[in-house]
Amino acid sequence: MSSINEIHTQILVIGAGAAGMATAAGAAGEGVSVLLVDERPRPGGILLQCIHRGFGLGVYGENLTGPEYCEKEAGRFYASGVPFLSRAHVIGIRSERTALISSPEGLYQCFFDQCVLAAGCREKNLYSLDISGTRPTGIYTAGEAQEMMNLGHYDIGSRAVILGSGDIGQIVARRLVLTGRNVAAMVEMKDHLGGLKRNQKECIEAYAVPVILGATVTEIHGYPRLTGVTVKHLDTGTQEIISCDMLITALGLVPDTSTADSLKGEEGFPEWLHLCGNAEYIHEIVDSVTREGLRLGRALGCSLAGKRA
Ligand SMILES: Cc1cc2nc3c(=O)[nH]c(=O)nc-3n(C[C@H](O)[C@H](O)[C@H](O)COP(=O)(O)OP(=O)(O)OC[C@H]3O[C@@H](n4cnc5c(N)ncnc54)[C@H](O)[C@@H]3O)c2cc1C
Repeated sequence: MSSINEIHTQILVIGAGAAGMATAAGAAGEGVSVLLVDERPRPGGILLQCIHRGFGLGVYGENLTGPEYCEKEAGRFYASGVPFLSRAHVIGIRSERTALISSPEGLYQCFFDQCVLAAGCREKNLYSLDISGTRPTGIYTAGEAQEMMNLGHYDIGSRAVILGSGDIGQIVARRLVLTGRNVAAMVEMKDHLGGLKRNQKECIEAYAVPVILGATVTEIHGYPRLTGVTVKHLDTGTQEIISCDMLITALGLVPDTSTADSLKGEEGFPEWLHLCGNAEYIHEIVDSVTREGLRLGRALGCSLAGKRA
């Protein structure tokens, strides 16, 4: 018969990305007990797949890659002495201040005083749009494509259409070109590209990625593998088929609070549940995630330790 292991901590932090690491380190500095939990084997979250530069100018005054920024933040986190429960998925949080955690070692029930949800965000996917046609392989969100190329080193395809023009889509466009793949077009409904100006310059203009503005994808072709998409020009209504074996969507990010949504009442989340990082709102720059995490951690730590923040 399997048993559930009990863990007691003053602060439970769910998610070991930039937000969770900073919150945990900030709180531990005030002398309270903290546990950091993540379903992945190591801390870092989204930073680990972002091998481009552009991280840390604010916090460290250096233009770092995601993994380099992660190394610095993980260094601070490990120095704080906070225990890290890895490969541990938080299944749910209950109103009596407990969380059920599933890990390869078994199930844990964690009792806490305060909980910080730093679970990041999820990407809107193609199926949130009304697009007809087949559902072949070769359709990825930009984050999935980035993870498969940069961490898994998979051969994800050779010629892409990117739908939407947010920052991740632009960064993925550059990565595709740099790895010898072809970007047939970046297709955007609006009359201008989304994302940071810096990314437009460094990822789209610098690599001459073709951009189609005022247009969208209306149909998908091919099965079992994608062979092309129909692109409709919204001003004239004309349509063209662009051949490709990848359709990559960069349609925007949504905070992921799904682990705690059942706790949400008319007045929002209970006062002991705190959101941080992309789980609270989408941050363009990691430096603000780290600063807000440290601030939240210190404030919670001070409050539990009976000190003034
Ligand atoms: C593609 C991309 C490029 C970016 N480029 C830049 C850039 O160039 N410069 C810059 O400054 N910023 C950039 N950013 C922004 C910045 O990196 C992010 O905002 C920041 O890293 C988010 O940190 P986070 O901790 O909120 O989320 P995440 O890093 O997503 O961490 C969330 C963690 O929660 C864990 N988790 C989720 N649910 C559970 C659960 N139920 N149980 C256990 N664990 C769970 C996940 O495994 C993950 O490790 C970029 C962001 C993206 C997405």
